[in-house]
Amino acid sequence: MKRIAIDMDEVLANPNLRFLEWYERDYGVKITEAQLYGMGQKFYEYVDNHDLRNYLHIKGFFKDLPLMPDSQEVVKWLAEHYEIFIVTSAMEFKYSMEDKYDWLQKYFPFLPWKNFVFCGRKDMIIADYLIDDHVKNLTGFTGEGILYHAPHNLDNTEFTRVKNWQEIKAFFEKELAKF
Ligand SMILES: [Mg+2]
Repeated sequence: MKRIAIDMDEVLANPNLRFLEWYERDYGVKITEAQLYGMGQKFYEYVDNHDLRNYLHIKGFFKDLPLMPDSQEVVKWLAEHYEIFIVTSAMEFKYSMEDKYDWLQKYFPFLPWKNFVFCGRKDMIIADYLIDDHVKNLTGFTGEGILYHAPHNLDNTEFTRVKNWQEIKAFFEKELAKF
């Protein structure tokens, strides 16, 4: 079986909605996800307050993050045809790890825990495909990089872009048909 490495944040889980929720709670200003896409930036760049990146260090930020639509069903389907690893940069945010582990057990219980990889850099990951929203992670990857559409990567044309999990399914249906 070929191997697919799948990122968590902004691919399986939606941390932008947590940013917007906490920003409204703390600053009384409501921003929509559509506004973030319109500006083509990270949330803290959009509001021009890089201190807000510190939300990522707060315990509970990653707890119960909303799922990206259709991600569970499509990952379940992919797991019938590929070896699936969930690969997430967690080491910078020590409190994220327990939240992320619980989240994966809750939403992806059909994947073995041995296939969860909490890492720092991703250029040591060996797989046939990597689905990630960060160009920097795809650039150092030796397999085929697939860029998940996100507000901060709108201008990249180097990688195959997918806008949602149905597009990921369609991409791999074509890949499977090649063999
Ligand atoms: Mg990500």
